[in-house]
Amino acid sequence: MQDRQETGIICPNCGKESTFEMWISVNTQQHPEMKQAVRDRSAFVFKCPECGVETPVDYGFLYHDPDQQVMIHYVTDDAQAKKLHEVLSDNENAKVLGIKNAGYIIRIVRSANQLADKLAVFDAQLDDRIVEVYKLSALSTIHKEHPEFSLDTGEFVFYTDEEGSHKLQILNNGEPFGSIGFNMDAYHKMENDFIGILCDLQHDDPVIDRQTAIDLMKILGDH
Ligand SMILES: [Zn+2]
Repeated sequence: MQDRQETGIICPNCGKESTFEMWISVNTQQHPEMKQAVRDRSAFVFKCPECGVETPVDYGFLYHDPDQQVMIHYVTDDAQAKKLHEVLSDNENAKVLGIKNAGYIIRIVRSANQLADKLAVFDAQLDDRIVEVYKLSALSTIHKEHPEFSLDTGEFVFYTDEEGSHKLQILNNGEPFGSIGFNMDAYHKMENDFIGILCDLQHDDPVIDRQTAIDLMKILGDH
């Protein structure tokens, strides 16, 4: 399968058109250098051959790490995401089920921030559902202290800093709003709350986001 495709791109600086290679599917076993390049976004920069100016390019692709057994579909188009969600959550689909049974975690994300978040969560070997529950709790805590932090558009991106500490980057209306530490004791406490409630990671819904956390809190309340 072809993993890249060439496309025309117009430089926002000089207005000249050049070709740019877009990834359709990144396999980190075939391209180990892409592991880091996806994480630091250096794989998604267009360097204009005419004027040398670098421009970030944001587009969807499949991130496939066979060693870590992670497949993350970054999808920017709503209709495409809906269709893919149907296919990937269909447990009658033998091919999809086979991949999940082999131990793969399959996810769909809708933004570059969500992709960065999932990658860092799985790198830290955490459960992304519990991380979403943690974020939901942090959302209301921060909103109470800082009412200008929006409950609707406020979001968190999990990351691990250079010292190896887990943190949440806070975004308010897409703008940086600081960061907070990610308390592992609190995480493990939440994880314990959901013992016997959650199915295994591989067989859960491919979309794990804030709505997942809201649904899980409701299930916990009814339990
Ligand atoms: Zn240019």
